[in-house]
Amino acid sequence: MADETHTLHSLTLAAMARGLSGGDFTATELTRHLLARVETIGKDLNAFISVTADAALASAAKADKARASGKAGKLNGLPIVHKDLFCTRGVLTTCGSRMLENFVSPYDAAVVERLQDAGAIMLGKTNMDEFAMGSSNETSYFGAVKNPWDTSLSPGGSSGGSAAAVAARIVPAASGTDTGGSIRQPAALTGTVGIKPTYGRVSRYGMVAFASSLDQAGVITRSAEDAAMLLSVMAGFDPRDSTSVNHPVPDYVAGLAAPVKGLKIGIVRQHFDAGLDPQCATAVREALAALEAQGAVLTEVDLPNLDLSVPTYYVVAPAECSSNLSRFDGVRFGYRAEDPKDLMDLYCRSRGEGFGAEVKRRIMTGTYVLSAGYYDAYYLQAQKVRQLISEDFRNAFATVDVIAGPTAPTPAFAIGAKTDDPITMYLNDIYTIGANLAGLPGISIPCGFAGKLPVGLQLVGAHFAEQKLLACAHQYQQLTDWHEQGPEAFA
Ligand code: GLN
Repeated sequence: MADETHTLHSLTLAAMARGLSGGDFTATELTRHLLARVETIGKDLNAFISVTADAALASAAKADKARASGKAGKLNGLPIVHKDLFCTRGVLTTCGSRMLENFVSPYDAAVVERLQDAGAIMLGKTNMDEFAMGSSNETSYFGAVKNPWDTSLSPGGSSGGSAAAVAARIVPAASGTDTGGSIRQPAALTGTVGIKPTYGRVSRYGMVAFASSLDQAGVITRSAEDAAMLLSVMAGFDPRDSTSVNHPVPDYVAGLAAPVKGLKIGIVRQHFDAGLDPQCATAVREALAALEAQGAVLTEVDLPNLDLSVPTYYVVAPAECSSNLSRFDGVRFGYRAEDPKDLMDLYCRSRGEGFGAEVKRRIMTGTYVLSAGYYDAYYLQAQKVRQLISEDFRNAFATVDVIAGPTAPTPAFAIGAKTDDPITMYLNDIYTIGANLAGLPGISIPCGFAGKLPVGLQLVGAHFAEQKLLACAHQYQQLTDWHEQGPEAFA
């Protein structure tokens, strides 16, 4: 039904899958339609760094052939875009940095490969904070991304291009990475669903590293069901990632049917302290009441060391980044300064010119906390506090199934509003960072509005409890339609 293809972009991934298998439209029609939105809306929002139109159309033709011959993979013909820190063979992988402005990867990241093997079609690579350092997408060398709900606002970060693309109905699904909140926070600020799996659940192979003990790949979608479809394919053991966990991957889609009744939901009192925007607090409380009305049991839990999560993160993450980013030296790959006087000049100017201000701030902080005189006082201390935070969560999960609360302290904020004050920017992740320090899975789902801006509800679970999070989110989405509401300008 080619004449109906003009509204294809409003379908969820699951609905697209049904349409493709029912023969309502072809992968080629779908891809063409969405590529047109990538070129127009995607450019307006600055959500993309690369568009891979020709490759996408070629893959779509292949997908249509595969379906016709009964060989369709699980995600055959379904569109996806990748955050520009997943390596993609033959395609630019910039990480939002001048340092990698011209870097074309010789191989595919595990996430890219798995989705592609299942038949998904990559339409492009999304804009992001430089090396995933940021909460507003403003540190990108390629410029800030605009929030489709109000283009004077930030979509959050660092997976801001992915979140904006899904919120604006350019694509139904995008990959992202979350080191301290970079999937969940932009999902909250754009009214989309964002899941960060358990550390080790999804392979980090081929992801440009920021802070290796915290980085985890996940997805941004419009429904929990769509996230479950993708996670079922992305998750699983990969020997190429030494921290990948060999743990069976459940059928997340089949698991969505689990009822909320009897689910024990923990509420953390500090989550509702003064720093939380009152309208966000109301939306989150109403969502919790809706879950309670379905039979969930709400109880208060205590995470006594949670207040230390932001300072702990801002020691651990910069320390790891200072080590990871030492590979960008102007010699092997990436940006190289012109006419260096000597080797030291080559190193210094390549790094000085190739990295942006936030990345430099992190590298310097990280180098400082790892230096001989300060290692014990900062880095070692932070590792000990990290352990305490993990234990707090472990104790809480002895009595509850999930911990629920706000994802971000405020709705989307203006582009430029926090750029002069890194501490205010860092506090945007106050509710999300704990899960990264403890390696836990977390999901953000739309749960209402603060004025005209979407609000996110965060659910955090014990290790490998993705299924519980997805089922709870899905059941909530059966009762409510927040996730179906999008910015009118991009309907
Ligand atoms: N906003 C946090 C930071 O700037 C988290 C980033 C992330 O999760 N990649 O480090």
